[in-house]
Amino acid sequence: MTSSAPLALVIGAGPAGLMAAEILARAGARVLVAERMASPGRKLLIAGRGGLNLTHTDPEERFLSRYGAAAKALAPAVRAFPPEALTEWAEGLGQKLFVGSSGRVFPEEMKASPLLRAWLKRLGDLGVELRLRRRWTGWTPEGAWLFETPEGPEEIAAEAAVLALGGASWPHLGPDGAWTELLAAKGAAITPFSAANSGFHVAWPEDFAARFAGTPLKRVAIACGAARVMGEAMIDRRGIEGGAIYALGPAIRAELALRETAEIRLDLRPDLSLGALAERLAAPRGKRSLSTHLEKAGGLAPVARALARLAGPFEGEDPANNPKALAARIKDVPLTLGAAFPLERAISSAGGLRWSELTPDFETRRLPGVFFAGEMLDWEAPTGGYLLQACFATGAAAGRAAAKRLGLTPPEDLASPPNSLDSQDHAP
Ligand SMILES: Cc1cc2nc3c(=O)[nH]c(=O)nc-3n(C[C@H](O)[C@H](O)[C@H](O)COP(=O)(O)OP(=O)(O)OC[C@H]3O[C@@H](n4cnc5c(N)ncnc54)[C@H](O)[C@@H]3O)c2cc1C
Repeated sequence: MTSSAPLALVIGAGPAGLMAAEILARAGARVLVAERMASPGRKLLIAGRGGLNLTHTDPEERFLSRYGAAAKALAPAVRAFPPEALTEWAEGLGQKLFVGSSGRVFPEEMKASPLLRAWLKRLGDLGVELRLRRRWTGWTPEGAWLFETPEGPEEIAAEAAVLALGGASWPHLGPDGAWTELLAAKGAAITPFSAANSGFHVAWPEDFAARFAGTPLKRVAIACGAARVMGEAMIDRRGIEGGAIYALGPAIRAELALRETAEIRLDLRPDLSLGALAERLAAPRGKRSLSTHLEKAGGLAPVARALARLAGPFEGEDPANNPKALAARIKDVPLTLGAAFPLERAISSAGGLRWSELTPDFETRRLPGVFFAGEMLDWEAPTGGYLLQACFATGAAAGRAAAKRLGLTPPEDLASPPNSLDSQDHAP
């Protein structure tokens, strides 16, 4: 990188923006990263709080299917920077990774801070300049990028720019979605943001909520219309959340778009067929209460028993004497969901800049030389490492395309550490 190298501006210092910055710097561009917060990667850091799930070992087709309607648009970027490339890159930054039992990939330390620290050091060594407390607010009449800073307005003219401003959840960490107004004013089509990987309200009876809030519902199958997932859910005072609910989010939101409530159906013993469960429940009950019988013969935890009871009285004869009806109830408990929990606390957001705005190179058709990456694009995915994988992969794709636009050759791969600045031109 020399002082005469072309200037690339990256706005947003999350995983997508920083990945674009690394590619551009390795290609030889001068890179300036502008970030509105006082420190970079705040959402990445919070993602590491419950264990940083970097990516997943799903085979490619299953992996891509997690992106639902956006799978086709995301596929080239994810194939060009697949989970293996992401894990090699993280290992290159000194992170030891492991694959959890569900195929999810985590750093051994579980947190994001060691990875981010090593990454920022590498970016600094590559000459990337990080300018904090810079909030992008639009363009000057001449087309330079305009920022609000504590010292007053700042203008930056760049030959190429990558925007990686994030979605709209956890706005206090930086991604507040305010960019939508700036791009909408340019005529860009944007799908409004909604909460993804979020819980939904349920009007629980007070005593149920008081007793079971915070209780996991393990190994259940949950269906919404034709969509069905196996996994875990978590009872919340306001409703229900957790992996299985997040995975069903798109189906639940589609129902909620048509009416005020959505119905899901829970199978509390998905590992047993109806007949096998009925057979177990037909075992002599003796003097045991129905609840104890459901626990001993049906293997149901207290929360599952309470949920089955909440579904209302059984029709016909006493269910205790009708193992088939009892088994049918346990395997098909209806639950009515209301609105999603607020977007502000959702793990991610659905919606964003529509794919029709972009070329396959993540360059916007309206503003040549401007590339987009990360959660600000119109895609969503369940938890499991798919979110970060797509952010890193689109960041890499946008960075590569921006480098080419500047006439530079992007790096072949990111597995090995870059050449240090010692081998580069330090001309002032
Ligand atoms: C609690 C929680 C746990 C999560 N856990 C995981 C997980 O384990 N695995 C996983 O795959 N995903 C996880 N995620 C999701 C993941 O963190 C995000 O999908 C990812 O950080 C999005 O990356 P991004 O670079 O697109 O945007 P962000 O990380 O949101 O970065 C965007 C950046 O742009 C900056 N910015 C915004 N507007 C402006 C502006 N006008 N001017 C200048 N800068 C601006 C923001 O301050 C921010 O730093 C989790 C999220 C949360 C909230």
